[in-house]
Amino acid sequence: MAVATTPDIEHLPAEEVLAYAVERWQPRLYVACSFQKEASVIMDMLLRIEPEARFFTLDTGVLFEETYETKRVLEERYGIEVDVYRGISLERQAELHGEALWNRDPDACCDIRKVTPLQEALGDVDAWIAGLRRDQSPSRAATAKLHWDEKHDLWKVNPLADWTEERVWEYIERHEVPYNPLHRRGYASIGCTHCTQPGGGRDGRWAGHDRTECGIHA
Ligand code: SF4
Repeated sequence: MAVATTPDIEHLPAEEVLAYAVERWQPRLYVACSFQKEASVIMDMLLRIEPEARFFTLDTGVLFEETYETKRVLEERYGIEVDVYRGISLERQAELHGEALWNRDPDACCDIRKVTPLQEALGDVDAWIAGLRRDQSPSRAATAKLHWDEKHDLWKVNPLADWTEERVWEYIERHEVPYNPLHRRGYASIGCTHCTQPGGGRDGRWAGHDRTECGIHA
């Protein structure tokens, strides 16, 4: 695809960023859902603009039961079905790479369970939406609301890039949006069971390892 100049939409509020994305790319627009609180906000906001919006999730097979339950609750609330992409089975992973790959080599584990399924999910769309916020971690401080994603060869939209944690909660409470209950138990960021502990920002992710990103947003 030929890459056009990136339009400046930094000044737009989240609703208008989403409206822009719908206008420009729907139905070749796909929303990544981690079932953290930002995904709940985006789902609620986007479905008010475009009831046919499409959502997907990466199921690593080792997500928290609360995360699977949040998926079920959101699907029921909005009458939608979130597409699921998975890597190879955990059994096959153990055969090929041994047990506890997430501990010995989290890069390889995330490649198999997240990065490769994401490539499959994004293989036939022109843009994707994610819930990154600049104040989540230093590595996300420069997140743009819209940029060309060279790794996946398509546009990436981060409508909540300039939102604070407080603003996310304010939206959730005002609109009574279902959210992952783990957030109320000290988990600011929620990933896989093996690699997530309670903590602020992204401190609880891969605790003990020198990494804060799994490769899908890096
Ligand atoms: S977050 Fe942990 S368990 Fe999940 S894919 Fe990455 S290394 Fe594997």
